[in-house]
Amino acid sequence: MKKEKISVVVSCYNEEEALPFFYEEIKKVENEMKNLDFEYIFVDDGSKDKTLSIIRELSKKDKKVKYLSFSRNFGKESAMYAGLKYSKGDFVTVMDADLQDPPSLLPEMYRLIKEEGYDQVGTRRSNRKGEPVIRSFFARMFYRIINKMSKVEMVDGARDFRLMKREVVDSILSLEEYNRYSKGLFSFVGYNTKWINYNNVERVAGKTKWSFWKLFKYAIEGITAFSTVPLAFASFLGVFMCLLALVFIIIIIVKTIIYGDPVGGWPSLACIILFTSGVQLLCIGIIGQYLSKTYLETKNRPIYIVKEKDKN
Ligand code: UDP
Ligand code: MG
Repeated sequence: MKKEKISVVVSCYNEEEALPFFYEEIKKVENEMKNLDFEYIFVDDGSKDKTLSIIRELSKKDKKVKYLSFSRNFGKESAMYAGLKYSKGDFVTVMDADLQDPPSLLPEMYRLIKEEGYDQVGTRRSNRKGEPVIRSFFARMFYRIINKMSKVEMVDGARDFRLMKREVVDSILSLEEYNRYSKGLFSFVGYNTKWINYNNVERVAGKTKWSFWKLFKYAIEGITAFSTVPLAFASFLGVFMCLLALVFIIIIIVKTIIYGDPVGGWPSLACIILFTSGVQLLCIGIIGQYLSKTYLETKNRPIYIVKEKDKN
């Protein structure tokens, strides 16, 4: 009988230091899972260091190593999409090159799909050890807010590391949007998902590519991609302000009738003008966020551009 195939998709951006460690680890797992035919897909996301030449070397000496190299840095979301598209496996796993997604979990993940009938197995870190405290705090807040706002469930601490059956991969690939927020897309497609927990692992080598600002923008991305609640919030705020204005008008009329018409209240007027114009700008800003996403979507630009491919 022909062996089933598993594709390991790894997105790499400036990972020259971590890659050799990763390759060594994943090879150990391959030797453990002899009933599967492995294929590796390294996606070089426009790295500026020696990542590409390391991958090229690996591909030369190991026929199972395939790769794609982007013409510039398109971001991890695009790299994952490209890797999934290029993969041929009956099972596909997505993982980071820095060993923060322990390859040693793979046999158990595979068993859960094979024996317990799950369609995909996701991983989540049960703690955020080694992460700045403020970052953890904002991350928690973000998950709380987005889960209130969106029908698609976002699991706190969920990693992108997961093992999927072919059907799941095909469903994800059918979502061809430009603004890709994978955490949402993985859960949007549904299927029977099992979550496994593990303790946070710090990266083996190299540095994280996520600054606080980048994460903040990513959070906004997630909210606009999976919820329209902010838009409803804008209209709600508008209605609320109108009602408030109505109450004030009535108060002023009543006051004028009872006490006559003394000119006054300039400071309060200035405050009201400032406040309402602030609210208006905020709401226009919210609408602008959605408009910009729609704008980018309608341009239909490619999600990634490949400059170089393996010869295997
Ligand atoms: N990555 C990528 N493109 C980017 C940024 C990151 O392909 O623009 C890859 C990176 O090489 C790594 C994974 O995404 O394999 C996760 O990145 P990182 O470890 O910096 O994120 P963290 O684990 O700190 O969230
Ligand atoms: Mg990492």
